[in-house]
Amino acid sequence: MKTTQDNTLYDVIISGAGPVGLFLACELALAKCKVLILERAEEPHSPLKQLPFGLRGLNSPSIEALYRRGLLQEMALHKRFKTPHISSNPKPGEKAPGAGHFARIPFNRANFDTTQWKYRLPGSLDTSIFTSMEEIEEVLYRRAENLGVAIKYGIGVTGFDQTDDCVTVQAGDQTFQSKWLVGCDGSRSVVRKAGGFEFAGTEPEFTGYTAKVDIADPEKLHTGGITTERGMYLLSQVDYLIMQDFDGGAFHNSGQPVTLEHVQATLRRISDTDVTITALHLSTTWTDRARQTTAYRNGRVLLAGDAAHIHAPLGGQGLNLGLGDAMNLGWKLAATIHGQAPEGLLDTYYTERYPIGAKVLDWSRAQVTIMKPNPHSQALNAIIRDLIDTRDGATYFAGRVMGLNMHYDLNGKHPMVGYSVPAIEFENGTSINNLMTDGKGVLLSFEDDSQLKSFADTNHLKYISGTAKETFGVKALLIRPDGFIAWATDSEADISELTEAAQRWFK
Ligand SMILES: Cc1cc2nc3c(=O)[nH]c(=O)nc-3n(C[C@H](O)[C@H](O)[C@H](O)COP(=O)(O)OP(=O)(O)OC[C@H]3O[C@@H](n4cnc5c(N)ncnc54)[C@H](O)[C@@H]3O)c2cc1C
Repeated sequence: MKTTQDNTLYDVIISGAGPVGLFLACELALAKCKVLILERAEEPHSPLKQLPFGLRGLNSPSIEALYRRGLLQEMALHKRFKTPHISSNPKPGEKAPGAGHFARIPFNRANFDTTQWKYRLPGSLDTSIFTSMEEIEEVLYRRAENLGVAIKYGIGVTGFDQTDDCVTVQAGDQTFQSKWLVGCDGSRSVVRKAGGFEFAGTEPEFTGYTAKVDIADPEKLHTGGITTERGMYLLSQVDYLIMQDFDGGAFHNSGQPVTLEHVQATLRRISDTDVTITALHLSTTWTDRARQTTAYRNGRVLLAGDAAHIHAPLGGQGLNLGLGDAMNLGWKLAATIHGQAPEGLLDTYYTERYPIGAKVLDWSRAQVTIMKPNPHSQALNAIIRDLIDTRDGATYFAGRVMGLNMHYDLNGKHPMVGYSVPAIEFENGTSINNLMTDGKGVLLSFEDDSQLKSFADTNHLKYISGTAKETFGVKALLIRPDGFIAWATDSEADISELTEAAQRWFK
């Protein structure tokens, strides 16, 4: 086979132009890295991504990340699908809107104890938004192109070789060279397999179906989700059918095509009716297989998104997890490439993101456990239902689903350290999130402070000072480029403490 070679040496090649690959590319390009994305699909939009079940729920960390880079503002759809802001509690007599669910058990916003999120709220950003895969990819694609990322469609990565200095990426009969390779190529990642990453975890309990169907006699079915002794089905008003058939994932794993006859037989069995499906327009199957790579890096090769972790799409966490990977990895990899990374910075990608991923996998497993149609699981389900109806229960479940509890263990003294900076708004109308579009580390002081300003200048940090509408009792904050708080003080800054924190993240 004749091999063609691209002689450009890229800083980073990303395998996969899904949301995670595109967002990572934007982060790297923002930090002046030369990036190439290789995408196996011939063109950006698959029919599945354009369907309503291509809708994705974005949680708080994703919303903040996208907003911080001016990307959320470009999404039109979110206005249509956004849930009300968390601080807009219902008026007396008004029914509080649902805010999310755990194993399809909804929690009620009226029950939230927002004092438990005192450093995260209030803020002007929403805590959950629905957008479509198509839209999120389009906005990210446009941004990546504007930032100069090279994107090649119809070129799937097939393997790679790495030395101490670079990676040679094979894509069929073509080769490309880069200093780093990141596999963002989804759940069946070629980069993960070729890189010999261990993908540890648990096997599925069910085959999930999502299908667009025409049903002759929908009155025979319940609307809304229903669990029977044989499984679960949910029929939406627009003819979208979701089913969970607890077959141990056998059908999905068999690779058999999803036919109308098969969907009808499965629905009849689960619903115990003789319902008739007259047309199957589109369908996909999925499982609750939950696996995570035991490392996120092998030499010059890294993984992010579904390539590094997979789990059931229950409660929609996968995209959020992947976007979080990209936001965490981008600035660290860029600093490493530019020789501006303190010792061990890149390793913190794994130490910070692996535990977050592991928690999401367990969250998915826990949901599956109480969704099983057996008496033991249903007994546990009833208990969780009661707990979710309490103030602490609703707050706990919502905090996990909306990502408000998410933080990194950064060993800081102040309770804000390790958390995403709240959407601080200044008297002059700007907000901290508007001031982070350039992806720089920030030293924020709520009072003008010449000592902190000169510290920021010497350490190549962006110094921001302004009167805020709400300071949370804090005087100054050191914020990493991904928006996470590395240091905070309620009193006059202790410069040696600030220096120690800054040296961990910036050089
Ligand atoms: C039914 C369903 C509903 C979901 N709902 C939600 C939700 O509400 N919220 C949420 O957060 N998550 C949700 N998820 C999960 C979410 O869609 C995924 O976690 C997310 O798409 C992962 O993004 P990614 O970029 O890592 O991978 P992908 O989106 O899979 O993108 C990977 C890309 O890599 C490309 N590729 C593959 N192999 C190669 C190769 N060898 N070379 C080059 N390119 C390659 C693919 O073509 C693809 O474009 C849902 C998933 C499903 C199935």
